[in-house]
Amino acid sequence: MCGVAAWMGEGAAGAVYELLLELQHRGQEAAGVAFLAGGRIGLAGGGGLVEEAVKLPPEASRAWAAIGHVRYSTSSLYGGELFQPVAGARGLVYVAFNGNIVNYRELGGELLGRRYSWDAQLVADLVEALYLEHGSLADALREAARLLRGAYSMVALSSRGELAAARDPYGVRPLAYALGDGYAAVASETAALDTMGLAWRELPAGGLLYCNGSPKDCVETRLAPSHEPRPCAFEYVYFLRPDSVFEGVEAHAARVEMGRRLARSDTVEADLVAPVPDSGRSAAIGYALERGIPLVEVLYRNRYAGRAFIAPPRERDGRLRRKFNPIRSAAWGKRIILIDDSVVRGSTGRRIAATLRAAGAREVHLRVASPPVVMPCFLGIDMPSRRELVAHGRSVDEVARLLGVDSLLYLGLRGLEEAVGRRLCLGCFGGSYPFPLDVERLEKVFTEGRR
Ligand code: SF4
Repeated sequence: MCGVAAWMGEGAAGAVYELLLELQHRGQEAAGVAFLAGGRIGLAGGGGLVEEAVKLPPEASRAWAAIGHVRYSTSSLYGGELFQPVAGARGLVYVAFNGNIVNYRELGGELLGRRYSWDAQLVADLVEALYLEHGSLADALREAARLLRGAYSMVALSSRGELAAARDPYGVRPLAYALGDGYAAVASETAALDTMGLAWRELPAGGLLYCNGSPKDCVETRLAPSHEPRPCAFEYVYFLRPDSVFEGVEAHAARVEMGRRLARSDTVEADLVAPVPDSGRSAAIGYALERGIPLVEVLYRNRYAGRAFIAPPRERDGRLRRKFNPIRSAAWGKRIILIDDSVVRGSTGRRIAATLRAAGAREVHLRVASPPVVMPCFLGIDMPSRRELVAHGRSVDEVARLLGVDSLLYLGLRGLEEAVGRRLCLGCFGGSYPFPLDVERLEKVFTEGRR
């Protein structure tokens, strides 16, 4: 998962920087901005959060078009060594995208005669090669869409001053834009455009926004024939900011409904409902409202510890340790219904259950506002192998024992889809992916070279 942003108009590089700050929750490993100034594309970026990674040089202030990216690595090396936007081999086109390309190895060998270890580099080289062939960024992206298989929400910039944004035909990842007097803006999430005071609309699945040198010359057109959208269920469950809208559905509202539906299938007695902050909060509100049980905060979350789930594996334990501390007066002697958005590797649930027990909780009942994660994702979330998933091959009772909770209940697949009110990609939850995937082969492709 990552975040992308783009701007055409005065102050483009600074505006992209601002948008990236609002998308920081989508990637914390690296960040970058590519900007067009004086007829050439410059690049600023590196490892870390936006404020550490992106040091815009003075010439960036003259940029009229720019694209940017925050990285949560789901392909190739973890950490800040790699960052986007990525340049094509000749530096004529830069791209940044959110998602994964499942056939990048084959495309690299067949079309570019090279073995790629990072899908983002393949995309940049491919789009640039097609740009040289077709002479327009819009045509290059349309042609690329015929070849690329996977999930992508993409922004691209050419040295001739074209800017484009595209969303894959299944619309797995979000992307929105705003057009106004003297600007065109693009961001992964609507909340980022909201905070800039811009009136946005979502780019539809298989849509293309193409700006030919000026915000006045921007058109929304088709990238590829559309399918029925299959937005990523995990975006609604965890990834999106609660104030963002994806495929017309606000994440907070969907999560409250997930909590309500979970509550309807539950009868456990308890003194209070507590969220795992912050990602379980919206669902906990829905659960507590539905069952009429008080909603109480029993955990303090250190906001500076970042999102442990999207950190590289070597950092996850440390972040988790720093992240939660119990509020003892609230937990002591209580039967607690703990609401989390999801259970993937089980490390958060296990740590929190132990923390609450040590703080004197009498019972801890874990309620999860999504189904068990039993399959890998190759479409933009870093869970590429079944081995790491605590629910894979285990019963609910076995997972409950492993996590050290008194009981465990998940929301069902149908409940999740009904709570969002859209047909979703449910691949990792044991439902269907938007298109057939060779899981065995992709597990190898997307775990190889990850360190
Ligand atoms: S497999 Fe899961 S995480 Fe991946 S796109 Fe589908 S719902 Fe999202």
